[in-house]
Amino acid sequence: MDVQPYQKDPDFWKTRFRLIQPNMRKVDAIDLDVEEMIDEVKEYGANAILVNGGGIVAWYPTTNAYQKTNEFMQGDFLGSVIASAHKANIKVLVRMDVSKSYSHLLESHPNWFRRDAAGDVVKHWEMLTTCPTGPFWEDYNFRVLEELLNKYPVDGIFFNAFNYLRCSCKRCQKLFKEKTGFDLPIKEDWDNPAWRAFVHYRYERHADYNQRLAEFVDVVSPGTVLTIDTNVTSDSYKGIRESGWHTVNFAESNGCITSEAFNFVDRPFPKWNYWVGEEVKIGNHIKQTSIILSYSKSIFSRRAAQPSHTVWV
Ligand SMILES: [Zn+2]
Repeated sequence: MDVQPYQKDPDFWKTRFRLIQPNMRKVDAIDLDVEEMIDEVKEYGANAILVNGGGIVAWYPTTNAYQKTNEFMQGDFLGSVIASAHKANIKVLVRMDVSKSYSHLLESHPNWFRRDAAGDVVKHWEMLTTCPTGPFWEDYNFRVLEELLNKYPVDGIFFNAFNYLRCSCKRCQKLFKEKTGFDLPIKEDWDNPAWRAFVHYRYERHADYNQRLAEFVDVVSPGTVLTIDTNVTSDSYKGIRESGWHTVNFAESNGCITSEAFNFVDRPFPKWNYWVGEEVKIGNHIKQTSIILSYSKSIFSRRAAQPSHTVWV
C-alpha cells in the first residue's frame, strides 16, 4: 500500500485549537512511551502538541555539531512524536531555541554571544545568551531549521525565549549607529532621543528577523507555520518592550499567536488568575491566539518535577 505524504493544513492555526506542551526535562526521555503520551494529550482534548525539537538540545538525531543531542533519548523522540501525533490527527509544533548556547563555544565563536556595556558575555543560569544580530541567529539558526524541516513533516515551528535582548557588542553598536546615527544607549532614559530611537529600532529589527524566519520556514517546508513565545499583556509592559515583542508586526508573518501565561511563583499577591483569558481576549483581535499549557505552572522550578499540590489547569 502506498503511504500518502502528510498533508499540511496551515489554515488550522487560524481556527480555535487546544494546544498542550509537555515541557520535558532531558531525563523524561528515559523509557518514554510516546504513544501513551499522545493518548494522554488526546484524552485531554488537545488537537495540537508543542514538543521539544532543537536549537540548544536536539531531541532528534542531528548532524549539527553545535546542538547537544539529548543523551537520555533512545532512538528519535521527535520523529516518533510526529508519527504518533499525526496518526491521532494531532498537529505538531516543534519547539526551537536560539536564545542561548554553550560556554565551550565561546572561544571558537566569540561573535555568537551577547555582551554587556563592559564587553562581558551575558549569562542566563549556566548558559551564555546569544547576540540577536550575530551569526548564531543569522546563520546557525537557519541551518538547524533547514535540517529539521527537510527531515520531518512538521506543522509548525515555535521559538521559545524569542527575546531581542539588548546587546552592546561592537556589531550591535555599529548597526545601530548606521541605522539611526546615534550611539547605542546603555540604559533606559526616555529623555534621551537615542533611547527612544533604540526602542523603535529593536521592534523593527525583531519583526524583520521574525518575518525572514517565517518566509524561510515556508520556503523549505511549504505549509509549515512559524509562531513564537510571547506575551500579549503583562503586569508591566517593560518586559514585553525589552523583548522587542510587537505582536501586531509578528502576527503579520506568523501562523497564530502563542502566548505564555504562567502562574509565576515569585509574583506578588494578589494572583491574577484571569491572565490567560485576558491574553486570548486581546490577542484574538490581532490573530488566533492560543495559550501554551505546560505541565508546570511555576516557571522558575520547571527544571524539577512539579509538586502535585501546585498543579492546576
Ligand atoms: Zn550584539
